[in-house]
Amino acid sequence: MRCAILADIHANLTAFQAVLQHAEQRGGVDELWCLGDVVGYGPDPGECVQLLRQWRHLCIAGNHDWAAVGNLDTAYFNQEAAAASHWTAKQLNPDDIDFLRNLPQTLVRDDFTLAHGSPRDPIWEYVLSTQIATTNFTCFDTRFCLIGHSHVPLIFALAENNLCQLRQLPGELSFKHEKDRLIINCGGVGQPRDADPRASYAIFDTQTEVLHHYRVEYDISAVQQRMLKAGLPGRLAERLSFGW
Ligand code: ZN
Repeated sequence: MRCAILADIHANLTAFQAVLQHAEQRGGVDELWCLGDVVGYGPDPGECVQLLRQWRHLCIAGNHDWAAVGNLDTAYFNQEAAAASHWTAKQLNPDDIDFLRNLPQTLVRDDFTLAHGSPRDPIWEYVLSTQIATTNFTCFDTRFCLIGHSHVPLIFALAENNLCQLRQLPGELSFKHEKDRLIINCGGVGQPRDADPRASYAIFDTQTEVLHHYRVEYDISAVQQRMLKAGLPGRLAERLSFGW
């Protein structure tokens, strides 16, 4: 089976569609593994939820998903994120709300634990340092963990001697040849933050146990125009051009 690993779509339908089309051109995928934040920031929350649900999928909750449906208080958000969250709440239909409200915080599939932020604190914690990663390796039982939330592609590897290293996410990662336990972030689809504005995602083949990481160009200005028309904060539109 082949699955697309998608994190932080953030209501960016154009990026989401571009990634699915890209996957189609590479032999297609059978399932989507979505690591949370389907909505928030972007102009197409309902459309993104509905497109995801047309697929066979796994999906866990992100902080923006839960903020938009009232499971979380937006007092913890910065001003722009809170404004976008309130706008998002008004766009969702009862079905979308039900779906987001009932998303689990973590899921386990085969050798993988799925968590939006971290296995220790799935909704909020960012894993961006080896120190935080080391503690988090004690918080899940599988060999590998897939995360999102920071929108930055990277890997934390824990060797048998308990030393944790930060690695770059390569274009091709073979789990068969991997001795370390790994926490993997495949980057963000709808709002990349690693200074590369292209959508970031991966395709994982359960048979070959190889993960391919890709960057995909999409029509950023079309998304920005929809955001401004909707009255979403200008800075949220602007950042898509730069990947921050
Ligand atoms: Zn996010």
